[in-house]
Amino acid sequence: MANEIGFSDNERLISPMAQREDIDNENSLRPQRLSDYVGQEKIKDNLSIYLEAAKMRGDALDHILLYGPPGLGKTTLAGVIANEMGVNIRVTSGPAIEKPGDLAALLTNLEEGDVLFIDEIHRLSRQVEEVLYPALEDYALDIIIGKGPSAQSIRINLPQFTLIGATTRAGQISSPLRDRFGVILKLEMYTHEELASIIKRSADILNIDCEEDGAMELAKCSRGTPRIANRLLKRARDFAQVKGNGIIDKSVAEETLCRMDIDRLGLDALDRSVLTAIIKMYSGGPVGLETLAAAIGEEAVTLEDVCEPYLMQLGFLSRTPRGRIVTNLAYKHLDIVNPNLNDGQQSFDDM
Ligand code: ADP
Repeated sequence: MANEIGFSDNERLISPMAQREDIDNENSLRPQRLSDYVGQEKIKDNLSIYLEAAKMRGDALDHILLYGPPGLGKTTLAGVIANEMGVNIRVTSGPAIEKPGDLAALLTNLEEGDVLFIDEIHRLSRQVEEVLYPALEDYALDIIIGKGPSAQSIRINLPQFTLIGATTRAGQISSPLRDRFGVILKLEMYTHEELASIIKRSADILNIDCEEDGAMELAKCSRGTPRIANRLLKRARDFAQVKGNGIIDKSVAEETLCRMDIDRLGLDALDRSVLTAIIKMYSGGPVGLETLAAAIGEEAVTLEDVCEPYLMQLGFLSRTPRGRIVTNLAYKHLDIVNPNLNDGQQSFDDM
């Protein structure tokens, strides 16, 4: 659905969802080893121990569930894990596995120790999940042959493999499936410094001249998300080539962001319209997600997956059982007087 800034979320510059342009470049930009993977220090520390231990025992790694908003590096991390273990990775996604037979075909083609990566694992059907359980627990497939009273169940042994599941919605994973993961890791949004170093690294790979302060300027507007950081870098390269001397410095970065209508915190027109709609149409909230989505002509799932995590991270929006509420910080950012505060509080808050 097109939003009021004239393009669908898939084309939105700061959407964390992968777009066609990203896919061309993403593989070359993906870190291959744990040591190149920027940030997520706690996860890396723990993972390096699990990897070491599995290698010492000569076992496959335990099944791992990665969760967090799109673009934070779940697919990349799965690839890094496979590389560190020295095994192959098969990549698929929940919606692509339509029938139990599709999953059986994937599993029987794995080799000892391989990684099976299932993106959007919360979208697996119940039937497919049922086939997955014995595969995860006993490395076995139970296949029913025939129908009715003469039906027979046969068990096929599978190689020891590691399932890495990724999801943006941990809450939607059924508990029997969740319980079968030995390791559950939550990816956090990245700091500005981490994003700046991702931008510098990508600039080196893509042969783009990017100065420290230019990288930092882009990093601050990348919404804590490496995929967005890489995309902003590519847009800034265009501006640097056409308008400047090919070097991304602070002023080129600022000009890029300004032309893209992205403000100093990385909010674009859609984020601002979410906040202003709650403020102007619903007196700051609470308002239900569906009502809000209808009011601004956007899909509820886009607001929930794309806009809200970052707005909540900034402390601009809170989710309550009665609906979404805009905080005073958001009023201040948009330069709107908050009528819900009395005068004393307003001026105290401004100090
Ligand atoms: P997700 O699977 O969570 O949607 P991806 O793994 O596809 O995200 O990451 C998107 C892009 O961001 C990748 O192409 C990669 O270049 C970059 N990226 C993600 N995480 C990191 C990281 N920790 N260090 C460097 N680059 C990263």
